[in-house]
Amino acid sequence: MIFAKRALLPGGWDSGVRVLVDDGRISKVQTATTAAPGDSIVDCLLPGMANVHSHAFQRGVAGLAEGRRAGRESFWTWRETMYRFALSVDPDAVQCLAEMAYVEMLEAGFTRVGEFHYLHRAPDGRPYDDPAELTARIFAAAAATGIALTHLPVFYAHGGFGPAPASDGQRRFLQSVDSFVDLVAAADRLARRGGDRVGYAPHSLRAASEADLAMLAAAFPDRVVHIHVAEQEREVADCLAFSGERPVAWLAARVALDARWCLIHATHMTAAEVRTVARSGAVAGLCPVTEANLGDGVFEAPDYLRAGGRLAVGTDSNIRIDLAEELRTLEYGQRLTRRARNVLAEDGGSTGRRLFDAAAFGGAQALGAEPPEIASGRPADLVGLTDPHRLPGGGDRLLDRWIFARDVSVSDVWAAGVHVVSGGAHVARAQVADRFGATLRRLLDGAL
Ligand code: ZN
Repeated sequence: MIFAKRALLPGGWDSGVRVLVDDGRISKVQTATTAAPGDSIVDCLLPGMANVHSHAFQRGVAGLAEGRRAGRESFWTWRETMYRFALSVDPDAVQCLAEMAYVEMLEAGFTRVGEFHYLHRAPDGRPYDDPAELTARIFAAAAATGIALTHLPVFYAHGGFGPAPASDGQRRFLQSVDSFVDLVAAADRLARRGGDRVGYAPHSLRAASEADLAMLAAAFPDRVVHIHVAEQEREVADCLAFSGERPVAWLAARVALDARWCLIHATHMTAAEVRTVARSGAVAGLCPVTEANLGDGVFEAPDYLRAGGRLAVGTDSNIRIDLAEELRTLEYGQRLTRRARNVLAEDGGSTGRRLFDAAAFGGAQALGAEPPEIASGRPADLVGLTDPHRLPGGGDRLLDRWIFARDVSVSDVWAAGVHVVSGGAHVARAQVADRFGATLRRLLDGAL
């Protein structure tokens, strides 16, 4: 059982909180009590956070594309490096890279991942004997580390607007609508743990045409659906040249944007597009650390939140996997562009708390998960923080110190009731990190 000196409950902060767990779920929450012998004790207990956007294999590219070649470095030159790496990974490597990424996610306080999985075919472009081979490796990595999985098989058919044919470097990603329907059915069969979910993801407006989007919507009327949109200015320009419309406006005019949708990035929007997405009930899946690393731009968060918009955070390229850093970078982008402080806080409120609540609830919605609440009957996905200096101040202050300063850190994580992170480290960290190092040395030997 878990005892927290303070915990963020559905009604707000409470102290002396004891959480009882049975069969992966919270069976009872006691307040104003004391620890019992054998309890795991934490300074602060939070509901687990959803990471709405990950490409697990890209964990292997982290730090390899930070040099300047001749000419202007951009998202598109980073993508060339990533494509070269994507052509090198075999099924064992996919699983190994995903295990490392998921260990780091759990250590950061993420208890569920939305895996936007587009690596489907063998390096030569042919399907594996089991076309869901790499999908199965993602499920295996999630099960091995304990993180809850919302698997998002990616539909990828074209190389650009038009549609333009896919490039040779995209050959491992490709699906027809028919093969994709089979792939989603295979993912359903692999979703054997109680918390597993399967949605789907048209990769982008470049990779899925209007006809594709309509066929997918008809095939999957009830699933969560994620798409990359309006990440880069060139994508906006290409969409305008193709259709006369901007990406988010084009999408909103052709699909029923609602609470099932998660728009990844949505960085470049007009004021009208911001209002459209905010009112639709969809979630904006923001990846501030990756967006900073790739030079994407800054999401129009204040107007979006003011209009009632829902947001979540994701680690995307997995260049650094750190929940507090995602939330901090989201706020810092706003501060730098507006030359102001505490931009995303509500009047009288803590910035950290606003960011945490928004991302927790938006993230759960986007991944088809239950509300992130420390309450009886909910999944026991829980994050414990340690506060070594025990400074005065309430729970919101502690959240601010975790997100913006460095003394407070994640010490313990329970995933479906299993104590997978203790003392800040995942129980399988050493073995997973050893395999990760060996795999990466093998893949990178002269390759990049
Ligand atoms: Zn992405």
